[in-house]
Amino acid sequence: MIFSRLLVIPGPIEVADEVLFANAHPSMSHVSPEFVPVLGQCIRMIRDVLFTKDAQPFLISGSGTLGWDQVAANLVEPGESALVLNSGYFGDGFADCLQTYGAKVDQINAEIGAAVSQSEIEKALKAKKYKVITFTHVDTSTGVLSDAKLIAETVRRVSPDTLVVMDAVCSVASEDIRMDAWDLDVVLTASQKGLGTPPGLSILLASQRAVKVFETRSTPVTSYYGGWNKWLPVMKAYENGVASYFATPPVNLIYAFHESLTQITKASPSIENRFKLHREASQRVKNAAIELGLKQVPLDPKHSANGMTALYYPEGFGAADFLPRFANRGVVVAGGLHSSIKDKYFRIGHMGITVADSTRGDVNSIITALKEVVAEAKSQRV
Ligand SMILES: *Cc1c(COP(=O)(O)O)cnc(C)c1O
Repeated sequence: MIFSRLLVIPGPIEVADEVLFANAHPSMSHVSPEFVPVLGQCIRMIRDVLFTKDAQPFLISGSGTLGWDQVAANLVEPGESALVLNSGYFGDGFADCLQTYGAKVDQINAEIGAAVSQSEIEKALKAKKYKVITFTHVDTSTGVLSDAKLIAETVRRVSPDTLVVMDAVCSVASEDIRMDAWDLDVVLTASQKGLGTPPGLSILLASQRAVKVFETRSTPVTSYYGGWNKWLPVMKAYENGVASYFATPPVNLIYAFHESLTQITKASPSIENRFKLHREASQRVKNAAIELGLKQVPLDPKHSANGMTALYYPEGFGAADFLPRFANRGVVVAGGLHSSIKDKYFRIGHMGITVADSTRGDVNSIITALKEVVAEAKSQRV
């Protein structure tokens, strides 16, 4: 590790040294014959991470949020209806973004710590025709994991034409996602969470069904920079080994992303083992929390993320008792984010290299710090 502090917030996460070194690549022309295949291979490798054969990736400078803009600007025409399954902070954001582009948005709000129930989804889809339905796979504000497969199945059964859009910013590469088998239309993410790359890249994959919906829209796309009319030819060209230009790609970050994708898709542990390692690490952290008497934000362990843990402070304690004590131990965790419980809980990320490379001992460090912090906070209170 280049830097001795352990960054275990739910993104950005720890980045492998090889990825950092790749980011330090000498400056390159974005249309050079050396760089073109690097971006082309990233397009192919991200398909492997999501188990899709023919979805269309869009790799664009930006953050995860740009994925929301792409969905709102390319797949929903002004005045069309969108249904947002809201399981926390990021549902609010997606709804706000869709409205910004003129969509009519309905929301189903889950209770804090829960996912939206299948019966509510079914009821809403029967009552009204929606162009898209969006949900957050792992809501980073609560650690709630939605059942992506079940949601997609439900939509296909009740409203087959509705596009199924998954905000997977906090789940790609830490949760098992089968884009083709589950029939998801959009999976959107960012570089800095489970994909273990510095921030700065918006990553979105669109099913051929979604691409078709985009191609047959009747009104113009409502974004300039985020328009797929601009990016689709560029992505196709790079995948075919041909340079093309709309706006400069983040060349160095693409080198870093390429290295991280190579580790995830071609090196050890295998991607399946990676998911297993995330589940095991998560269980270890959650078991330690249970032993310490800390309550999780997710109400049902089945709906609890494997790449992060959200824990309520013990009664009478708050961020000031916990976060500086973690920091004193060189462990950086995150405070609360969901507005209704913001001061009542904290979040620990355990994604990427932190769980995939056990020689680092990161999970042990997290658990040791957690135990020490709880003990110290309690002992100094009495
Ligand atoms: C982090 C996150 C976002 C936003 O991503 P940025 O890269 O910060 O723009 C959106 N959705 C979820 C679920 C996230 O965890």
